Amino acid sequence: MKGYAMLTIGQTGWIEKDIPKCGPADAICKPIALAPCTSDIHTVWSGALGDRHDMILGHEAVGEVVEVGSEVKDFKVGDRVLVSAITPDWNSIAAQEGYPMHSGGMLSGWKFSNFKDGVFAEYFHVNDADGNLAKLPEGMDLGAAAMLADMIPTGFHGVELADVQFGDNVAVIGIGPVGLMSVAAAAIRGAAEIFAVGSRKNCADLAREYGATDIINYREGDIVEQIMAKTGGKGVDKVIIAGGDNDTFAQAIEILKPGGIIGNVNYLGEGDFVKIPRVQWGCGMSHKTVRGGLMPGGRVRSEKLARLIMTGRIHPEKMITHTFQGLEGVEPALMLMKDKPRDLIKPLVLL
Ligand code: NDP
Ligand code: ZN
Repeated sequence: MKGYAMLTIGQTGWIEKDIPKCGPADAICKPIALAPCTSDIHTVWSGALGDRHDMILGHEAVGEVVEVGSEVKDFKVGDRVLVSAITPDWNSIAAQEGYPMHSGGMLSGWKFSNFKDGVFAEYFHVNDADGNLAKLPEGMDLGAAAMLADMIPTGFHGVELADVQFGDNVAVIGIGPVGLMSVAAAAIRGAAEIFAVGSRKNCADLAREYGATDIINYREGDIVEQIMAKTGGKGVDKVIIAGGDNDTFAQAIEILKPGGIIGNVNYLGEGDFVKIPRVQWGCGMSHKTVRGGLMPGGRVRSEKLARLIMTGRIHPEKMITHTFQGLEGVEPALMLMKDKPRDLIKPLVLL
């Protein structure tokens, strides 16, 4: 089969591989919609995970089942399915401890385009199919469905990590597709004010539509000064980090009230340390909490988040700005993600 792969750090290309083998609890799917992710860019061009050779990229897919293992109960050949980017081993100890995304070791629930071939291929393998697939709801837009692989569950996880409550004022740093979904999730959770930090106009427009009350342009001035000015010098209850770099933590700590929580879902692709400023962290005594997490994955989560789309509570398809046709489309779609033109929010590939 054909697949689009990371050849080594900084290089991608088309390769041929054998069709993956199906274990007893697994499924083999062919993609019907695919999306590249900013994480693919960190993986290839920053070498964030270390070197990988001829590893097929991609972890955001909607698929059709072409084979199931003998132990799979709820899925059959021909089913159209939502596929989570994170596919834990649900019978692991880590999953029982509440951290399925770390089953098999830290971050090891993230298998596609990390520990095994990803979804940018004619076929891909899904472990633990009953735990990791969900039926594609009848009538769901394929662009919205593709956002259920990663953008929605990750953006929402940032809000879960920050534990947003009714009436909180919240800063969402970064309003690419992940941060936009954090804005939508914070609004659903009852945030009073949402300060959305970004600079691309269409992201800012969509952030407002999803519930942001203020747009903070980090290119037009220090975000700490801007957010402190808007909150009368008090800062915010919660911060979700979905963009920026290692220095962003310093800003997040500064704008956070004592007792506040940072939920980070940003993938820090470079450098050895993140910065936590000593004084603004109350010399270690501020009760300002930093939580960072890989989204959990799994069927129940996919099904629950899918309901939010089917009932019209979220409109993730509005984030799709560029659409390509056919598997070959993953190459230009990925290059768009790499170059991030200012009119891009999220590309989609339909097969
Ligand atoms: P984008 O690149 O589309 O968005 C990044 C956002 O951050 C943009 O709004 C950008 O603004 C903003 N930004 C960039 N630099 C700064 C800065 N210095 N200060 C403040 N804001 C800044 O990324 P995605 O939405 O696709 O992904 C966000 C992150 O989430 C990535 O790191 C990705 O790898 C990670 N991720 C994590 C997952 C997880 O499970 N934890 C899963 C999936 C993704 P501008 O408008 O100028 O572009
Ligand atoms: Zn992703």
